[in-house]
Amino acid sequence: MSRAKAFDMTRRAFGAGLCLCCLPALARGQPATLEEVGASVFVRRGVDAEADAANLDGIANIGFIIGEQAVLVTESGGSLADGRLLRKMIRDKTDKPIKYVVLSHGHPDHFFGAGAFVEDAPVFIGHHNLPQALEMRGEFYRKRLIGLLGESNVGPVVLPTRIVTGEDEIDLGGRRIAFKAHAPAHTTSDLSMLDRSGGLFFPADLLFVGRIPPLDGSLTGWIAQLEAMRQENYGRTVPGHGPASVDFGPASDALLRYLTTLRDGVRAEIDAGGSIEQAMNHVAQSERSNWKLFDDYNKRNVAEAFSELEWQ
Ligand SMILES: [Zn+2]
Repeated sequence: MSRAKAFDMTRRAFGAGLCLCCLPALARGQPATLEEVGASVFVRRGVDAEADAANLDGIANIGFIIGEQAVLVTESGGSLADGRLLRKMIRDKTDKPIKYVVLSHGHPDHFFGAGAFVEDAPVFIGHHNLPQALEMRGEFYRKRLIGLLGESNVGPVVLPTRIVTGEDEIDLGGRRIAFKAHAPAHTTSDLSMLDRSGGLFFPADLLFVGRIPPLDGSLTGWIAQLEAMRQENYGRTVPGHGPASVDFGPASDALLRYLTTLRDGVRAEIDAGGSIEQAMNHVAQSERSNWKLFDDYNKRNVAEAFSELEWQ
């Protein structure tokens, strides 16, 4: 691997939810609560903050679906400790076996909870690019998270045991769950999920609501995937970050507006002969008031977009 590539990976890793910043809700003693967003579908909303010792990296929306015969974990949590909290919430609701755990993509706030479910021997479901993503960055993320939370709270990197290429489907007993492996968008390993019985859609981090989305895959790819999903007319949706559930249409309007503003601004800067630094200082600033943590991510997103678009 070239030094430039290694630097780029490290920069991307730091851009994926791992620096100290805001005081989260959990740090103020607010208990994590479950919302029933559909029949036997429960979501714990993540806090809109960066990972830290107080929130245990519980910053993503995580939850579970209870079928007639089995439980599926929709997102495992951001650390072993966060995953254990989720497992306890599941056990407070049902004794049914936890047979599936979804690893929606290769960001630490979504996969480090998986270690809490190893004892259940579930099937860990992931995108066909996820093993490579975890092999490349998993240990880096683990060390970084240990520095924030302490080793006993972080847990192992768990690899998927069922790989999705294209589409896949499972049955929880009277409840079919469909999966789709996406082309590079938010990351290179985005897996979305549809609960066919209730119609609930789980795009994971392909949909951010209220919190600025970090770009770690492909900007033009993400816009294309979002536009394709909008053609599907999804209704009630559990975003990766934001409220426990939203209507897909209006929520995706806001994300699409940010991503296209980012794309058009970077393209204009490139066309005018501007530098990446110049672009970072002013592209997409019109979106600043619309997103939490905007200043923590927008410049990185501009840099990512600049690198992608300058060769197109
Ligand atoms: Zn993510």
